[in-house]
Amino acid sequence: MKTQTLLNYAQDRWYEAPIGSLAPVESAVTGETIAVTGSEGLDFAGMLRHARAVGGPALRRMTFHERAWMLKDLANAVMARKEELYELNYETGATRTDGWIDIEGGAGTLFSFSSKGRRELPNARILVDGAMEMLSKGGTFVGQHVFTPLQGVAVHINAFNFPVWGMLEKLGPTLLAGVPAIVKPASATGYLAEAAFRIMIEANVLPPGALQLVMGGVGDLFDHLTLQDVVSFTGSAQTAMKLQSHPVIARESVRFIAERDSLNASILGPDAAPGTPEFDLFVKEVTREMTVKAGQKCTAIRRAMAPAQHIDAVEAALKARLEKVKIGNPREEGVGMGALASRSQLSGVRAAVAELARSARIVVGDPETPPVPGNGAFMSPILLRTDDPWNTDAVHDVEAFGPVSTIMPYRDLADAIALANRGMGSLALSLFTFDAAVAEEFVLGAGAYHGRMVILDRTSAKESTGHGSPLPVLVHGGPGRAGGGEEMGGIRGVTHYMQRTALQGSPAVLSGVVKQWLPGAPKIEGEVHPFRKRISELEIGYTLKTASRTVTLEDIEHFAHFTGDTFYAHMDEEAAKASPIFEGRVAHGYLILSFAAGLFVEPAPGPVLANTGLENLRFLTPLYPGDSMRVELTVKTKSIRDEEKGEVRWAVYVFNQKDEVVATYDLLTMVRP
Ligand code: NAP
Repeated sequence: MKTQTLLNYAQDRWYEAPIGSLAPVESAVTGETIAVTGSEGLDFAGMLRHARAVGGPALRRMTFHERAWMLKDLANAVMARKEELYELNYETGATRTDGWIDIEGGAGTLFSFSSKGRRELPNARILVDGAMEMLSKGGTFVGQHVFTPLQGVAVHINAFNFPVWGMLEKLGPTLLAGVPAIVKPASATGYLAEAAFRIMIEANVLPPGALQLVMGGVGDLFDHLTLQDVVSFTGSAQTAMKLQSHPVIARESVRFIAERDSLNASILGPDAAPGTPEFDLFVKEVTREMTVKAGQKCTAIRRAMAPAQHIDAVEAALKARLEKVKIGNPREEGVGMGALASRSQLSGVRAAVAELARSARIVVGDPETPPVPGNGAFMSPILLRTDDPWNTDAVHDVEAFGPVSTIMPYRDLADAIALANRGMGSLALSLFTFDAAVAEEFVLGAGAYHGRMVILDRTSAKESTGHGSPLPVLVHGGPGRAGGGEEMGGIRGVTHYMQRTALQGSPAVLSGVVKQWLPGAPKIEGEVHPFRKRISELEIGYTLKTASRTVTLEDIEHFAHFTGDTFYAHMDEEAAKASPIFEGRVAHGYLILSFAAGLFVEPAPGPVLANTGLENLRFLTPLYPGDSMRVELTVKTKSIRDEEKGEVRWAVYVFNQKDEVVATYDLLTMVRP
């Protein structure tokens, strides 16, 4: 393979560092130099200025939906050229399956953020957070939390193990939030990250200044960070601590998200004896976590715990499986585990195994004998065992970032929980049990120490995503040693790049700010029935006030017999009176909803296509026979989805003849744009 010079991308131009400053990068498989990389000469302050002055404003002019479409375009661009990335992936020592997690998993993460952005975020530029808070008796002064994009730069410093996914899982939420990014991949596998980055730039869908790339050290970049910037770091605890203690981070209160190492645990439940499906699933999962990506996963199982009486059976079963794993050149058919990412990574893992082996014994594998001849960074899976996990600190503390795991016994569930928590904060824990009571005790006892918990049994295993896969819709991160950070988790991850502000003011002004009708804001009435208007013609606050109708006892009885809902409160005067809630027979809530629709619909075909749901329904005041009801229907939010349709959310209030609120809900409708 020809040696490639990796380029930086600064201020919308590719930049090559001076030849003398470039460092070699080796193939994990052959040990040969395949690229040279460096960032010397970059104007880091200028890059930050460019992102703040050009990228940020351009992204913030777009709505969440526009940015979500942009993510989809980026993901499609990566998918269209994925084979170029798979070629480079092999050089990192990774198999095609490993590469699938990295490359297609990365694009999948962008797709997920794109679709969540369009479904769960407004087609607007301000994000409303939670419900309006009433701050005054008369309702003229209210509170509303909102999120707006930070006006700085997201600096992403990534680990070497997932060069594509690691970059895209951070970029998805960042770009959706409206914040430009400077990406710094890890040097060892930077050639793959650079290729994926180049594909995104060449897709030509990003505004200028939205993305920049640093292919080496970050120079004086940290000296120029401000309160509007975010550093999102993935890597070792040592580097995280060094960067986090930079004086500018403290002085400016720069947000620092840290995803660090983690001594993840997997526990065989007390009910999962040999012969149960859970026992077999546990053995399979530990093997998989040790060998996928040659164990170079921040979430990989480092500590596998089993009831003391089953530990020998666990050891034997793991040994049998691990010895079958074929190690070799990841390009070759049938190879189950490739190489570590570099020879320096190999020596780091060997050193960590040596430290572990001082108090635990190796029961499978040999760290010093290369399983594949040549200069590649190959290592066989190493299984260690300790029978005294309480007096073996290293197994709870030393992360060997390779195909390495330690098995250990526990006495009872409390012991297992305490051992799992001795990792002092982890990213992922798995528990193999078919007993909900065991699971409950574990969640209560260990939840506070682990960012994600996977409870696996015979019913979920087949469809499960496994112990080690972070998912875009779930939170990734963990307390303590794992860094205390949190990434992804659906829209939660987007808000990590936004500022939450508590707004206070009148409902009318705040409605105008958040583009959402808030209770107390003016209602606009017009001649035209709102169901005759397209989304583009409907104003926020546009309201239909219906005529009123009286609800009779005959209506209630008719509805009861028609639907079969003869609940006592509607049919039995004495029983209804005897309840602590009603003064006598009352109208069904569903009857009120049906009559409400009868009062507000405009029946002819028109722009309103369908009713798609109700949310936040509350029945507040009983409606008695002889009472009357009327409805006010107000446009609360509206959002165009595509050329065919969009969603209008209506605030619906049902009043009785005394103007008391009988029921309130959000009605969702699909409407032509
Ligand atoms: P590392 O040495 O800490 O490097 C991580 C990143 O930090 C790399 O991009 C590295 O760049 C950069 N870096 C190092 N020193 C720096 C400095 N002074 N200023 C700015 N950037 C600096 O970690 P690693 O050994 O590559 O990664 C493996 C570790 O990451 C493991 O401990 C693993 O558990 C952890 N990890 C955690 C997660 C998670 O999500 N929690 C995910 C993956 C990995 P260079 O490569 O150019 O030095």
